[in-house]
Amino acid sequence: MTILPQPSKRPEEYPFESLAECIYFDNAATTPVREEVKDAIKSHLDVFGNPSSKHPKGLFARQLVERVRQDFKEYVGAKAKDKLIFTGCGSESNNLAVQGFLSNHRPGNTHIITSTIEHPSVANVFKHLESVGYDVSYIPVDVDGIIKVDELKRSVKRNTKLISIMFANNETGSIQPIAEIGRIARENNIVFHTDAVQAFGKIPVDIYELEIDMLSFSGHKIYAPKGIGGLICREGIELVPIIHGGGQEYGMRGGTENTLGIIAVGRALELVKENNAREAERLGKMKQSLIERLGETIPDITINGDPSKTMAHILNVSFKGIEAETILIGLNTEGICVSKGSACSSDKIIPSHVLTAMGVSARDALGSIRFSFGAYNEMSELDRLMSKLPGIVERAREMSPVYS
Ligand code: PLP
Repeated sequence: MTILPQPSKRPEEYPFESLAECIYFDNAATTPVREEVKDAIKSHLDVFGNPSSKHPKGLFARQLVERVRQDFKEYVGAKAKDKLIFTGCGSESNNLAVQGFLSNHRPGNTHIITSTIEHPSVANVFKHLESVGYDVSYIPVDVDGIIKVDELKRSVKRNTKLISIMFANNETGSIQPIAEIGRIARENNIVFHTDAVQAFGKIPVDIYELEIDMLSFSGHKIYAPKGIGGLICREGIELVPIIHGGGQEYGMRGGTENTLGIIAVGRALELVKENNAREAERLGKMKQSLIERLGETIPDITINGDPSKTMAHILNVSFKGIEAETILIGLNTEGICVSKGSACSSDKIIPSHVLTAMGVSARDALGSIRFSFGAYNEMSELDRLMSKLPGIVERAREMSPVYS
């Protein structure tokens, strides 16, 4: 099978039949929509009422939306007065949390804290806030991509209002010490937001046990379609909306609710609850097997991040002396989908800010590939990957001017 990117082709000329034969190891970028979720969408296609309308069609849609809201709140241990604001995606949830909260705290006298490894939907908000006068501390990470808690403690100031640190990193899967961060925030009366887009549905969360004030998630990372996300927000946290509108979502996010998206993500959550522990174990074994097989067959590789401190579904590997782009093209040709760096930055040839923050050299960072597993992957798919990858790496190294 040959699947080469052919940007000149019109969409209808793409070999879509062979897409089904692709092996998909890019679940951290997005997940396929689960069959059960598709069924839920299909069986609700006629639910078109506006959830704000006060007639039977609207009231029925409202009931469905509120049931899903309740399920999500229960899943994270939220209380009755805590909010779940449905949004369009994880990026919007992050923007709403950080910008919405800081609209009540003017620059000049406000200190805020984040890490050096955030997703661009947090990192770029902080960069913007810094440019308009907020005092920002960026907490560094260690070689495994875990934030340095002592530095976090030291960075707290009298006027620190917000800490935003991700639950787990999207490039390496590194899991952050969320309970400790929550404790530091609580002891210092600081609001704590976490971008849980990668961790949600994979690592169980109780926002009260972990002292999380705001938590972002995204539907398309848990087998729902794109276009639905959420921000859990504890009672008492005051936000200013970034989308003003007709008062939907507690007045925090204008716009008629994406009813079908909400129904879909509700079904996705039910499946998460059924499969969570078993699935984490299964994906962990797949990752361990890939680590071993890579080690046996390909010299000069580095696993980025200690596997015992990273999520079961993400493995980030640097291949010395070659650019990840070469591997990507080789695997594309074989119909095997992976990412270099994170998907959101995959059209830029700058080394990953996450890997360089961990102390990985720029050259090794440019040679890094992210394999990420999901519900539809089977252990046997590793055989096809490993029958191709060593050859691709070897050929690339033969041509590399920097590999010896
Ligand atoms: N945060 C993290 C950690 C992510 O991995 C992503 C997406 O890759 C996002 C935020 C953005 O989510 P969305 O694509 O739903 O905007």
